[in-house]
Amino acid sequence: MLMLPDFRVRQRDFLLEISRAMTAQLDLAEVLRLVLHASTVMLAGKVGLVALREPTDHYVIHATLGVESDHLDELNQHLDEMVGSTNWGYDREFINTKLNQMAISLDRTLRQSLFLPLVIGEEPVGLLIIFRSYWVQPTENDQQILQSFADQAAIAVHNAQLYASINHERKQLGAILDYSADGVMMLDPQLRILGFNQALARMTGWTVQDAMAQNHDNVIKWKRLERGDLQQALDDGWPFRMPKDAPLETLYVEGDLLRLDGMTLSVGITYAPLLADDGTLMNIVANVRDITNFRRAQEMQNVFISTVSHELKTPVALIKGYAGTLRREDAKWDPQVVRDSLEVIEDEADRLTALIENLLAASKLQAERMRLDIGDVHIDQLAASVVERFKTQTTKHKFELNFPSEFPVIRGDEVRLRQVLDNLVSNAIKYSPDGGTITLGGEVDDRYATIYVRDQGAGIPDRDQEQVFERFYRVDGPLSKKTKGTGLGLYLAKAVVEAHGGSIRVKSKLGNGSTFYFTIPLIIE
Ligand code: ADP
Repeated sequence: MLMLPDFRVRQRDFLLEISRAMTAQLDLAEVLRLVLHASTVMLAGKVGLVALREPTDHYVIHATLGVESDHLDELNQHLDEMVGSTNWGYDREFINTKLNQMAISLDRTLRQSLFLPLVIGEEPVGLLIIFRSYWVQPTENDQQILQSFADQAAIAVHNAQLYASINHERKQLGAILDYSADGVMMLDPQLRILGFNQALARMTGWTVQDAMAQNHDNVIKWKRLERGDLQQALDDGWPFRMPKDAPLETLYVEGDLLRLDGMTLSVGITYAPLLADDGTLMNIVANVRDITNFRRAQEMQNVFISTVSHELKTPVALIKGYAGTLRREDAKWDPQVVRDSLEVIEDEADRLTALIENLLAASKLQAERMRLDIGDVHIDQLAASVVERFKTQTTKHKFELNFPSEFPVIRGDEVRLRQVLDNLVSNAIKYSPDGGTITLGGEVDDRYATIYVRDQGAGIPDRDQEQVFERFYRVDGPLSKKTKGTGLGLYLAKAVVEAHGGSIRVKSKLGNGSTFYFTIPLIIE
């Protein structure tokens, strides 16, 4: 054994070496190896081991000195029994028995074991055990040496755990950013980009790599800025000094972003300041949201409101005009003129009713699922009666019915299905202004009845074919501009058909007419 003060010098050197290894951020295994080496030398041990507590509360050996690897399983087993059935420090005797068993299983020449838990705060994180090949009464000094190394080892373990948990959190945060549908970027106070996620790369056209370290203004370029202005806000003292001493606030900016490829994208950006504990600005986090759909919905709603008011006003104006003319007391009307005028009044009143029904049905649909009043429906006869009614409204169009004889009776809501046919036939007339034949027909297979309405009109461009079923959607073209409509007919038709368990689709070619098909299951579950 070394004599004091050599001993003290040696201990200090070891401790220095260990703390250097810790600050050089060597991995945990290396620090544990050093601790074990130092403790074994200092205590003149022959064999040593460090076991760490796992999250499952088991102790597993992480570093050994003088232990053959085929002994490890057995040692881990002993450790489990020792730790699993005792409270630290209380059942010293049991621990000693266990340590003896370990020693025997390792090497028959071992005579003494010294052991110390590694503790951070109150929390046990591991064990340091040294075995000697001779027995002497453990001294105060032995204990103190072991303690100094155990403390170092505990700190290293704690650091490693902190590092692992920070790393884990960093990965979680990274995953959130990577999978976020919103664009996210992190800026420094000089507006340099420090972080940039995939969604933002897709929105701006910049790659993540190219965007990093760029200045914010190089990447976020506005074609048109509608609300807010980051530069202006910063010049005004955001985030610290805002008008009227407002509390620290996020900043919202909205407009059309100029992408790298020259296209534009409507976005809203929320900038949030991130402050250090002393209140200085550390970072700005920007959340970028694609608001194209929101804008489109808003635009559609605006168009809808203006068309609806127009649609409502026109029949009312006609009805009022004709009624006013008829009741003029200074005129005597020919009976034919009176009949014609009353017919216009009746037609316009019908149109108003249909429009109001559509509006009511659409607003109800938003609030609740459509309810059906199910009964037997002879859909071929229903189609014939719809045709009869529309025939009177047009002279340009011919109508054909093409249902096989003995078309099955389906289970459905007759009023709603009539509404679907009404809307499809009324569209077929509206969107074939040059006339042509309109055919209503049906087919059956073993599961579905398919009903179709075909026209020879303007057709629908490919890109609009899915969207015509959306609420308020109207094809943007000269014919729709000339033709009255609210963009609700097909939306409602789809809702009715789907409530029956069927589906609706269109087959059409621009300039070559359209066919709308809808299916109704033959047996409604
Ligand atoms: P609208 O009240 O505008 O007619 P719909 O929901 O019934 O609303 O139809 C949506 C849009 O689909 C119409 O504005 C029109 O552009 C297009 N469309 C519907 N039916 C036809 C058709 N038979 N031929 C051509 N275009 C059609």
